[in-house]
Amino acid sequence: MFQTTNPATGQPGEALPIDDEAAIEAKLAAADKAWRKWRLTPADERAALLARIADAFEHERERLARIAVCEMGKTYKSALAEVDKCAAGLRHYAEHGPAMLEPVTIATADGTPARALWRPMGPVLAIMPWNFPYWQVVRFLAPTLLGGNVGLLKHASITQGCAQAIVEMVDKAGAPAGLFQNLAVKSQAVEAILADDRIVAATLTGSEGAGAKVAEATGRLLKKVVLELGGSDPFIVMPSADLDEAAKVAAKARIQNAGQSCICAKRMIIHTDVYDAFLERFEAAMRAVTIGDPMDDVDMGPLSSFEQRDTVVDQVAKAQAEGARLLFGAEQPPMPGAYLTPGILVDVPRDAPTAQEELFGPVAMLFRAADIDDAIALANDVPFGLGSSVWTQDAGERERFERDIAAGMIAVNRMLASIPEAPFGGIKRSGHGRELGPWGLHEFLNLTAVLG
Ligand code: NDP
Repeated sequence: MFQTTNPATGQPGEALPIDDEAAIEAKLAAADKAWRKWRLTPADERAALLARIADAFEHERERLARIAVCEMGKTYKSALAEVDKCAAGLRHYAEHGPAMLEPVTIATADGTPARALWRPMGPVLAIMPWNFPYWQVVRFLAPTLLGGNVGLLKHASITQGCAQAIVEMVDKAGAPAGLFQNLAVKSQAVEAILADDRIVAATLTGSEGAGAKVAEATGRLLKKVVLELGGSDPFIVMPSADLDEAAKVAAKARIQNAGQSCICAKRMIIHTDVYDAFLERFEAAMRAVTIGDPMDDVDMGPLSSFEQRDTVVDQVAKAQAEGARLLFGAEQPPMPGAYLTPGILVDVPRDAPTAQEELFGPVAMLFRAADIDDAIALANDVPFGLGSSVWTQDAGERERFERDIAAGMIAVNRMLASIPEAPFGGIKRSGHGRELGPWGLHEFLNLTAVLG
């Protein structure tokens, strides 16, 4: 059984059964059977299903939100927002997706008629994390079903209730049997599932370690994989920035989801001319963050698990041992649950191992940059390249950031967030491939050239 624990209380939650070999086989067979029919359905019919799944999410938003709160500790209000975002993402693909599947006419030098067709590939396995237990899945599910593929989910062990709920929403919307199923398995079962001929591709959102394992297996099997892994996103503030706004947004970008988002702002890189002024404002904003029962109107609940909390506590201690100074916070408040207060680390030596790591919790690292070259060098001096946020009113500086920041996403004078229309993904050890927009849809389609 999967035994969930409510991270706000430490109390055991529901125990959910694990699929045995026979159940896995039945699901793989059902997925394969569903695909053979689904690939032939018109795109408009697939789009209509997505709109009905969106309706189901909207009708059940409170129940879905409560399951996420109990399993991984996010605040109820952020869980509601996540469910709403899922509905919006589904509606985006329902409305705009069919046009993205139109054949592409190709101009040829010798006049040969040529087209490229977007054709589905088959059942795709999605290995997903607990931090946005609905959205991470929906941003795979919507384009997958729209493109004529079918989906199998291997969700994180701690969010199996969310996994079950997503399947319920898809079924409620009238999806044919086998179109989208939850494989209730632990990570050890993944390699054998990937090796099954009926699985044609995989996508994983999660840690570098899990990503490398799945990349290794899919590489050996020569199957396509999309990887959305960790990040240590820079948040760069230049002297021309609106400091009040930048500091307020920096705090929000660091503590959102209790600091557990791949695109949280994790390293604040501040131009030396405004370092002290920014720090004063940022410290005030971080100290003002409210923590408590995630069902209450607070900014932050607990971290997703006691293990996750302990990992962050250990990283902070390691950073201090390496010479960083903990300005305040990163404390475990006297309440049951995996709580950790927001904190700020300053004077982190640039060559400290921790400066290269992802801090998946509400603790920011602050760095001082001498000028724009130094800021860009610092921003790029990590193994990751997922997102970034840059704050400047200077057009020349903006151009430099757009040209030189090594990341998949750059937000200018705003907090980075995923939107259904724009590509989402990273470079370096943050993974490869893109989700969302037409790019996410096309990742798992067989682009077929037709000549003549
Ligand atoms: P994991 O990467 O371990 O989990 C993500 C998903 O991958 C889960 O479904 C997990 O299953 C699965 N998985 C884990 N190992 C393997 C494997 N060898 N083969 C196949 N699937 C696997 O994340 P954790 O929950 O352990 O979190 C650890 C760290 O990962 C965090 O501190 C953070 O740095 C990063 N992370 C990044 C996320 C992002 O959005 N990019 C999201 C979550 C975590 P199971 O739960 O059963 O182990």
